[in-house]
Amino acid sequence: VTSPTSDLLQNLIRNACVNDGTEASGEESRNCNTLRTLFNDCAADVHVHSKVDGRENLVVRLEGSDKDAPSVMLLGHTDVVPATASDWDFDPFGGEIVDGYVRGRGAVDMLNLTSAMAIAMSNFIASGAAPKGDIVFAAVADEEAGGQYGAEFLVSDYPELVNTDFVITESGGLQMPHNDVTYVPVMVGEKGVHWAHLDIEGTPSHGSKPYGTDNAVVTAAAIVDRLHSYSPSATFSSHWETFLNAMGVDAELVEKLAHKDSVDEALARMESDQASLIHACCHTTISPNVIHGGSKVNTVADHVRLSVDMRSLPGMTTKDVEAILDDILGEYRTKVDISYTQHEESSESPTDTFLWDVLADTSRSLIGECELFPMIAPYGTDARFFRRNGAVAYGFGLFSPAISFNEHISMFHGRNEKVDLESLNLTTQMFENVLRRFAE
Ligand SMILES: [Zn+2]
Repeated sequence: VTSPTSDLLQNLIRNACVNDGTEASGEESRNCNTLRTLFNDCAADVHVHSKVDGRENLVVRLEGSDKDAPSVMLLGHTDVVPATASDWDFDPFGGEIVDGYVRGRGAVDMLNLTSAMAIAMSNFIASGAAPKGDIVFAAVADEEAGGQYGAEFLVSDYPELVNTDFVITESGGLQMPHNDVTYVPVMVGEKGVHWAHLDIEGTPSHGSKPYGTDNAVVTAAAIVDRLHSYSPSATFSSHWETFLNAMGVDAELVEKLAHKDSVDEALARMESDQASLIHACCHTTISPNVIHGGSKVNTVADHVRLSVDMRSLPGMTTKDVEAILDDILGEYRTKVDISYTQHEESSESPTDTFLWDVLADTSRSLIGECELFPMIAPYGTDARFFRRNGAVAYGFGLFSPAISFNEHISMFHGRNEKVDLESLNLTTQMFENVLRRFAE
């Protein structure tokens, strides 16, 4: 059945706050205004701030009665990544409900959660409950392009509005049955994100006499090959085998995937979707993704810019990442000028916390016996800004069994995003239960 959460999600999808990484994109003011109306209706004190016009962020902060009581924030982002309509089976910004699913860009990343958080918060306010610790809902812009107009901006310019002891944001919360146990992942950490431009120099000369020239395109080709071949040994997070089992990997493969010596051979035997996720969860990765260079067809290239996306495992520093890149470049290093446009270390929260227990309790009350397990996301989220400041931050929703973990993961930035109405209800109830626990 439809609900306030599904209605809100439809509206947020239709607002099409598409963030393509440019400053002028996103236009999250549209989703901000939709949410502002919701909170104005329940007479909440709404704060709206932006670093640039059009990229508005909304924060509702309820002050608790006890300064020593734990505080919590529900943190959603309001932007979505671009969608090419011709690749989809339906209008990515139609926000239609068909066969019990809300369909459109953002239905899983993460307007579904943002909607559920907003409805849970407005219901909490409407109930007149008086929180003990501070309770915050924040809907932020620009998560999909690094957060400089969103979470990062609020943390630096409005810390009094967004600092809390605990934070819940994307993703996690899928039901993953294995051997009569329902496992539910909580995203407790994420890999580091390091984006670098490699400016590769050559010496210009006439294209009619290439012999012995210093051609930046040729150097770039050799460097791309090395980056692509980079293959560090695997590092496994805690609960690694639980994660593999919960994903439905064959027992024999699980055994191989849990050992450094056999993991590569096992990955090569798996389907590429599952293999790429498992590989990313246990390796530092490098992907050379953009290349521009040369000037003219009859001139030996004097410059190429290669942009690479590196993702580091927990425990690695930015210095470690720089050393890896230098090492891969080897003798080419002197021809390359490296500039990092994003250089963020991984982050991880502990699991022996009040919030973990609250999530476990509320999950059991809503879906029955289940076991939460910690997972490290291979991608970055806004949680890192808050972990860096000392908060415990988890990614969590609560989904029905209608969509499998693998299917869910494949929809992030993918085609045909959709979420079932039951999952929206479960997620909304879960957030409401969390807020009530923090109010006790
Ligand atoms: Zn997201």
